[in-house]
Amino acid sequence: MRILVVGGGAIGLLSARLLAEAGAEVCLLDQGALGGESSWAGGGIVSPLYPWRYSPAVTALAHWSQDFYPQLGEQLLRDTGVDPEVYVTGLYWLDQEPAAPLAWAAREGRPMRSVPVEAVYQAEPALAKRFSQALHMPGVANVRNPRLLKALRAALVQLPNVTLHENCAVTGFIREGTRICGVRTAAGEIRADRVVVAAGAWSGELLRSLDIALPVEPVKGQMILYKCAEDFLTSIVLTDGRYAIPRRDGHVLIGSTREHVGFDKVPTEEALASLKASAVELLPALAEAEVVKHWAGLRPGSPGGLPFIGAVPGYEGLWLNCGHYRNGLVLAPASCRLLADMLLGREPIIDPSPYAPAGRLG
Ligand SMILES: Cc1cc2nc3c(=O)[nH]c(=O)nc-3n(C[C@H](O)[C@H](O)[C@H](O)COP(=O)(O)OP(=O)(O)OC[C@H]3O[C@@H](n4cnc5c(N)ncnc54)[C@H](O)[C@@H]3O)c2cc1C
Repeated sequence: MRILVVGGGAIGLLSARLLAEAGAEVCLLDQGALGGESSWAGGGIVSPLYPWRYSPAVTALAHWSQDFYPQLGEQLLRDTGVDPEVYVTGLYWLDQEPAAPLAWAAREGRPMRSVPVEAVYQAEPALAKRFSQALHMPGVANVRNPRLLKALRAALVQLPNVTLHENCAVTGFIREGTRICGVRTAAGEIRADRVVVAAGAWSGELLRSLDIALPVEPVKGQMILYKCAEDFLTSIVLTDGRYAIPRRDGHVLIGSTREHVGFDKVPTEEALASLKASAVELLPALAEAEVVKHWAGLRPGSPGGLPFIGAVPGYEGLWLNCGHYRNGLVLAPASCRLLADMLLGREPIIDPSPYAPAGRLG
């Protein structure tokens, strides 16, 4: 079977890998460089920021993925020599009302507990001494997403049944009756038995050419990066929607904004000032540090952050794996495995019905 995957972010790259490993002939297209958009721009926290606020369907994908991430990191390092650095740091929520999170964690069988703030200050001396309560989830990891993308790309390059086309925008679909038989690009038509749309924030726009109203739209997020000593911060810390993520080498990411401004992804002075203020509120020593990078990315926003995974009814051969909103990196392993299971007629890892496009498209 020949499968075309549109979009080479974490979702498209991992989908392509799983489909190719199962023996399909895969062609992956991206309008820019592979892994250059939201999947690169994200923070890489391997958990939703507030997991108790999501539906059981998002939780099911998140939990499957979280359990699988260490294995994925090891596989990619072994196969490609590129280490995605799946770094289990744990996460502290500061000044978070604990009842709903603790009830959720107990229900889901995930370890989370209230801890005295003094214990947090002892574990994280750089943290501002301004908080009154803390919740801790020890197993939360972060992945160095630019390296994850590099590793996924390198893994695909090794597979003889994969073709990669960068700087090759898909402009439309080849439709014969009710069947989608391929895509149109600036470089000509490419035909396939199945087309998977994994075009992130652009997925809604792309499907408009087929008169499909997919509620996926860009939500801009800006982040800043500092370089600190390796032991400056050892856990992810989060308060009021703003967080600090430590990488193994001392880089610390501060995120993020949430802006509905269409496809504009220019970093702004206003966001820089606001992110710097959040950084100092969490970690006062950063007042003296220099921001080494500031960027923006476009999240694929969707209602409830529930991705669309599965076949599009009425358009034979057309499949979706998009709309992961704030959680595309954590959800990627389960989403892509679920897509591959369904597309290849295998037993799905989890109940696919909540993610089905049927009934959710205009
Ligand atoms: C600031 C920020 C922080 C985040 N933090 C986290 C986090 O900590 N944890 C987490 O899990 N998630 C996080 N996210 C969300 C996560 O990054 C996204 O959900 C995820 O990257 C979506 O992956 P994707 O592959 O669908 O999209 P993308 O990575 O955007 O990939 C889509 C690809 O499709 C290509 N494309 C689009 N249109 C076309 C076309 N017509 N033809 C060909 N190619 C096309 C694009 O060029 C792009 O490469 C964050 C996002 C941002 C912006």
